[in-house]
Amino acid sequence: MNTTSQTSFGRSAAPTIRVDRARLWQSLMRLAEIGATPKGGVRRLALTELDGKGRDLVVRWLREANASVEVDGAGNIFATRAGRDAGSAVVLTGSHIDTQPSGGRFDGNYGVLAGLEVLRTLNDAGVVTDKPVGVAIWTNEEGSRFVPVMGGSGAFAGVFTLEHLLAQRDVDGVTFGDALRRIGYAGSAQVGGRALDAYFEAHIEQGPILEREEKVIGVVNGALGLRWYDCVWTGQDAHAGPTPMEARRDALRGAARMVEAVNALALRHAPDGRATVGFMQVGPNSRNVVPGLVRMTVDMRNPDDGDLAAMDHELRGAAEAIARELHLDCDLKQVDHFPASRFDPSCISAVRAATQALGYPHREMVSGAGHDAIYVARVAPTSMIFVPCKDGISHNEIEDASPEHLEAGANVLLHAMLARAGIGSVSAADGQPSFNPER
Ligand SMILES: [Zn+2]
Repeated sequence: MNTTSQTSFGRSAAPTIRVDRARLWQSLMRLAEIGATPKGGVRRLALTELDGKGRDLVVRWLREANASVEVDGAGNIFATRAGRDAGSAVVLTGSHIDTQPSGGRFDGNYGVLAGLEVLRTLNDAGVVTDKPVGVAIWTNEEGSRFVPVMGGSGAFAGVFTLEHLLAQRDVDGVTFGDALRRIGYAGSAQVGGRALDAYFEAHIEQGPILEREEKVIGVVNGALGLRWYDCVWTGQDAHAGPTPMEARRDALRGAARMVEAVNALALRHAPDGRATVGFMQVGPNSRNVVPGLVRMTVDMRNPDDGDLAAMDHELRGAAEAIARELHLDCDLKQVDHFPASRFDPSCISAVRAATQALGYPHREMVSGAGHDAIYVARVAPTSMIFVPCKDGISHNEIEDASPEHLEAGANVLLHAMLARAGIGSVSAADGQPSFNPER
């Protein structure tokens, strides 16, 4: 093993390395000009000409940061900064740069440009890592123009095939494959099968918790599992005047009780249990008819599959009890299910340790939304870093985040990646790092 004095200098100097807040912010604002909307948001749908321009810009920046760039058959972009050990698996970060039709400047873009900022910072400080480090741009995360959502990372993780992805059509009938070729990003690298040491993704929270609790960093330990149900209550239509109260079989009463039961059961599984009735149809929906039929949905989420199964059990119990008491029939059917994902303990620890070393107020949390990291987690040790966004608002042109918080998340990303990649040596040109650690 090579234990030169350079190495020991490296290990003591590295903890003082910090990203450049202004440079990160300027890169975000520059990328947000491509597809900028009058209200201050961004409209850059996947595989449009604007997406191509955004990719061109970020790829140029990544190459200027001494990264080699490969593109796979799904249009996923992988930029790699060499380490001392060329044979090692890559410590990867990244996210997406496609947006919603009326999207914001930070969703996805932040994760990619925080990764770019990590590479630039390592260059400034003259750090050579042991393992290579890299930045990925995943194709079509948003799922607005093409379904499936998280398409590029899903194909990478083998959730669906490349052929399936390339055959998808937008509303105008253009295929994913044609759109990809048209912007010049139908790459030749194999989709998936890439050796990853770890994957870290920085992202705005897209919820209100960090801001409300005045925390700067969310140490994300997993994502919620989900179960979707269709529920049909059947009673009997009857005249609202002549039908005595005790003789009624009112399906809407059953549904109303169910709404309360659904909320109560989520509260019993606080703080991470979530349950929602978001859709209801009342039949015959007439002011002077006792409703004989109600269709409703239930959406339940929990970070723990066992807990989610317990919620399922409680939901079925509540439906049965309500139906019995009100003399109704209840048909409750589960129609979809995604298991909860737990991120990798060693990656979560790396994020937590970096956050603590940097002194940022933080909390452990789970992601309520979908992210590329959730698919990548199926094939590589993975975790995420959340930073606050203003009022918890995202998928909206007014989406906003503060330069200080974005800087903090990028610093955590930098040090989590360094902990994983190992610092081989530090050799800033003048013997002093060319960054201001106070900034
Ligand atoms: Zn996103």
